[in-house]
Amino acid sequence: ILRIGEEQDLTNVPYDSLLGHISPAMKLAAIKENCSEQGCNDTFRYGQTTFAVRYDRFKDDDGKDVGIIIIMQDITERQKLEDMQTDFVANVSHELRTPLTTIKSYTETLLDGTLDDRETAMRFLSIVDSETDRMNRLVRDLLRLSRLDHKQEKWTIKECNILALLNAVITKVDITARQKQLRLNVLYAEGQDIRVLIDRDSFEQVLMNVLSNAIKYTERGGHIDIDAFVKNSLVHICVRDTGIGIPETELPRIFERFYRVEKARSRAMGGTGLGLAITKQIVEEHGGTIEAASKEGEGTTITIKLPLATKRGMRNIE
Ligand code: ADP
Repeated sequence: ILRIGEEQDLTNVPYDSLLGHISPAMKLAAIKENCSEQGCNDTFRYGQTTFAVRYDRFKDDDGKDVGIIIIMQDITERQKLEDMQTDFVANVSHELRTPLTTIKSYTETLLDGTLDDRETAMRFLSIVDSETDRMNRLVRDLLRLSRLDHKQEKWTIKECNILALLNAVITKVDITARQKQLRLNVLYAEGQDIRVLIDRDSFEQVLMNVLSNAIKYTERGGHIDIDAFVKNSLVHICVRDTGIGIPETELPRIFERFYRVEKARSRAMGGTGLGLAITKQIVEEHGGTIEAASKEGEGTTITIKLPLATKRGMRNIE
């Protein structure tokens, strides 16, 4: 912990130069003061690590002070979880407050008299309407995540042809793609049969999220390649777009809850920032993986790998 080599001679090293520098509570003067009362509980960061430290004096059988015992514990992982929880609550509050503030200010303006101006009133009401939709989406996604976290999701696992599902999802997003003048290129032979064991509705959402993102984050005139093939008993589903891409440093974070590369752009497009977090959790519940590769300004590829159904009824997930 202290990065002191075994070979280092500590005989004449003053205590403070050994331990005092790692935290104010570890200085000898602080230790003496704290121990005259009831010892100390503290946490501190040292390099990349978070430590909990606890110390107190200890006495011999006659009640005479013998020394001080210091316990240091690496709590980096626990701290990370706690930080994530705090961030999550802050994010949820912020995301819910933003539409609420908008709704409140528009309804107030309407109540103050704008209601009589029919055209403006209609415009305001449609804003209220879309902000309510945003809150609905957010709460729906949060509930979904909560069910996934608590393993309360009811899965209906059935064997199905993943390509048939992919075709159905492509048909659904085709209109949006056309409106943005984006070309959807299906690279796999559509008649093939690649069988997997999945909860169809959940997986439809997975494919929908990935394809919608590709459409959302690709500028007009671009194209999206969709491929599916079998390799090493896994079906690979690849969605490659020619969109805005994701900077390398941000790439590992896009599956985090509420993480967005550009908050404003994502919000303007109705995103909750929870789509990929939900997607990843569903894919993993099916024994699969999801990865992203990207080059800023050139495009993004999302690859989902899923085990093939071997024998009917053999593989299943609870
Ligand atoms: P959102 O609702 O904001 O789209 P997601 O969880 O689906 O949330 O995605 C998280 C973030 O990852 C997005 O805000 C966006 O910045 C980035 N992202 C996802 N897919 C793509 C893509 N195909 N191209 C570029 N950026 C993407």
